Amino acid sequence: MIEACGLCGCSENQAVFEVNQVPVCATPLSEKGKVAPKGNLNIVKCNQCGHIYNRGFDSQLISLIYENDFAGSIPTSKATIQRLHDILQDAIGFRDRHYPKVVEVGASNFFLSQLMLEQGTKRVLAFEPSNAFSKPETAPIDFINDFFNDELIPETYADYDLLVMRHVLEHIPDLEGMLTMLGRAAAKGSFLYIEVPNASDIFEKSRIFDFFYEHVNYFTPEVLAGALTRHGFQVEKFTTLVGGQHMGLLLKKCEQPKPWSPEKSHLPDVGRLGAEVEGYRQNLERHFSGRNNFAIYGAGAHAVSTLALADGLRKGCRFSLDMNPYKLGKYLPGTDIPIKSPSREILKEVDAVLVLASLHEPEIVRDLKNTWGFQGQVYGTHPNFREV
Ligand SMILES: [Zn+2]
Repeated sequence: MIEACGLCGCSENQAVFEVNQVPVCATPLSEKGKVAPKGNLNIVKCNQCGHIYNRGFDSQLISLIYENDFAGSIPTSKATIQRLHDILQDAIGFRDRHYPKVVEVGASNFFLSQLMLEQGTKRVLAFEPSNAFSKPETAPIDFINDFFNDELIPETYADYDLLVMRHVLEHIPDLEGMLTMLGRAAAKGSFLYIEVPNASDIFEKSRIFDFFYEHVNYFTPEVLAGALTRHGFQVEKFTTLVGGQHMGLLLKKCEQPKPWSPEKSHLPDVGRLGAEVEGYRQNLERHFSGRNNFAIYGAGAHAVSTLALADGLRKGCRFSLDMNPYKLGKYLPGTDIPIKSPSREILKEVDAVLVLASLHEPEIVRDLKNTWGFQGQVYGTHPNFREV
C-alpha cells in the first residue's frame, strides 16, 4: 500500500476506481497452471498535486516483477523499429545535436543503445535489472545489471550528455527519490529524455487496459513537467507518440531548480472513469462470454489487464498471438492461455481475434487480413472497442 503521493507527499486523495486481484506481473509464465501473484488496483488522484497513482501497489513485490526474467516489450516489427528511429531523431533530438556519452536506464535488450551508437554516440552506460537479456559483446556498452542509482554511475560517465529513460518512471513507487537522483546525476547543460504513457490521453479516451499493476504512476504532461522543474530540468521539447498513447519529454538541466505548484485547471477530470471501467468490462462480456473459439492478439500488460477484468474473455480464449520470441511457448499469468506465433495455419483454428496490443493495432489488423488471410471477426481496442 502506498500511503502518500510519490511526488508531493500528500496523503489525502480521491478514489478513482478499484479492480481487485490482478496479476502483479505481466511476464508470461513458463508452466501451465503456475500460480501468478496477484494484487489490487486502487487508483487515486492526489488532492494536492493531482498526480494519479495506484495506492494498492505493494513495493515489496518489485523484485518479484523485475528480477525474474522480466521481458517487457522489445522491438519485433518493422513499424516498431521505424518508430524507435523516429523517436531518436525527433523526440530525443539526434537530428539536431550530438550525444557522445549516453546513459540508458531500462535498456532491456540493448536495441536502442545500439541504435544510438549507430547514430554517432561513442559510449553507452546501460542500466537493466532483468537478467533476461545479454549484452552485445563487441559494442561499446557498459552494462550495470541493476536498478538505476546515481551512485552506481562510474566517474567516466560523470559528464554524460544525455540520459534516456523510456517507460521506467511509471513503474517507480518512490518517485521523488528517483527524480532527486536524476537531478543530482545531471551536469548543467546535459539532456534528459523521459518517455511514459500519456495519462491525459488515457483519461480522455478511457483506455482502461492501460491500467495495470506494473504501473504505479499515471502522468499527465503538466504534472510530469512540473515535477521535473523542481529538480532543475526545463522542457526543451514535448512529443506525443503512437497516436497520443505515449509522450516523450526532452529536458535540459539548468542552473537552478524552480518551485512548482500545479494549476488546478490543468488537472485531469477522472470522475467518470469508474463507470468507463464497468462499461469496458460489460462490452467484453457481451461479445465474448459463452464463446470458446476466439484468440486475442498481444501477450503484454494490456492483454493481462483486460483478461483480469472480464471472466468470459479469460475462460473462452483459446490462445494469445505474439511475435516476441521471449514469450512464445509460455502462458499468460493468471490464466492457462498459451502464447503462439501468428500464422495462416493457426488462425484457421479460431473465428474471431481481439487485438489487445493497442500500440500496434493498425499493423496487426493489416497482417491478420492481408498477410494471413484471416476471414473471421477482428475486434480492436484502440481508440475504442469495436469490430474492424
Ligand atoms: Zn501529490
